[in-house]
Amino acid sequence: MTESTESMRVSVLRAVEDVVVERRPVPEPGPHEVLVRVSAVGTCGSDTHYYERGRVGEFVVREPLVLGHEASGTIVARGSEVTGREPGTRVSLEPGVPCLACHECRSGRYNLCPGVRFFATPPVDGAFSEYVTLHEQFVHPVPEDLSDEAAALIEPLSVAVWACRKARIAPGARVLVTGAGPVGLLAAQAARAFGATEIVVTDVVDHRLRTAEELVCCTAVNVRHRPLSEFGYEPDVLLECSGNPTAAAEAVRTVGRAGRVVFVGMGGDELPLPLSHVQTREIEVTGTFRYANTWPTAIALAASGAVELDRLVTHRFGLDGVPEALTASARDETVVKAVVYPQE
Ligand SMILES: [Zn+2]
Ligand SMILES: [Zn+2]
Repeated sequence: MTESTESMRVSVLRAVEDVVVERRPVPEPGPHEVLVRVSAVGTCGSDTHYYERGRVGEFVVREPLVLGHEASGTIVARGSEVTGREPGTRVSLEPGVPCLACHECRSGRYNLCPGVRFFATPPVDGAFSEYVTLHEQFVHPVPEDLSDEAAALIEPLSVAVWACRKARIAPGARVLVTGAGPVGLLAAQAARAFGATEIVVTDVVDHRLRTAEELVCCTAVNVRHRPLSEFGYEPDVLLECSGNPTAAAEAVRTVGRAGRVVFVGMGGDELPLPLSHVQTREIEVTGTFRYANTWPTAIALAASGAVELDRLVTHRFGLDGVPEALTASARDETVVKAVVYPQE
């Protein structure tokens, strides 16, 4: 290991709206870890939240924190016990490493592990960094023709895949996706790949709705101009990706008998749920928290072309540009995904 004596550049959140590039030693991989040279990192709403408010829900930034959890890279070194991951392998990083011993982990629900260590969630550093270490089981090799950007965006695609699984989307399903941000665009694409034949996507920004129409065969509805209730669409599944309580409540009212509602987007903490609609139609309502065992499926969907990831990338930044990357979508509605390249 020559890396331990070398230093690397890291983008560090020191306080609210205070991000600087620092030099730190390149980390040494533990026995079951690999060292990854980071290629591309997508920015996410939670990164922006930490940057602007210093917290996301119950997670509060108390110490300097490295943001970024949608990452790809190349394995450059491995710990003493690692045998199956060759240096030089391009990988997509699954950013949460669970304890693998608790009840949730043993039940296969490792996304609900209370002991998970997740990138860019205090106190665990993320990937806006030239190098990171990660458990060997959570770096997933990607095919050669998958770009660095697509390999990074396997993470938000995993969110979408998990939502489709929770919603039990099957061939012929009618799906409503509320919110045409990155998560909604991926949820709609994943729903199509899961067999949905009718997909309606709603938003209040025309530009986003046009992107939805371009990326996935769907009907795009601007609910600012025309309320959803007037539209007469009765989906089997609602994938709520807007995070807007009013939009969500309105959308729940359209769901048909024995339908499923999955809350994917994060927004208000409380929501007026139309309970009699839910009861009389036996609608199942659930949420998603990250994902479990989604990387192989997400990589296959991206590699086969069933889901288009590269076209989500609209803006690019070097490591010095992290503050601009995190605030890009608030300044400019044409931003879908801003990607950071830590080597630049
Ligand atoms: Zn994310
Ligand atoms: Zn666990």
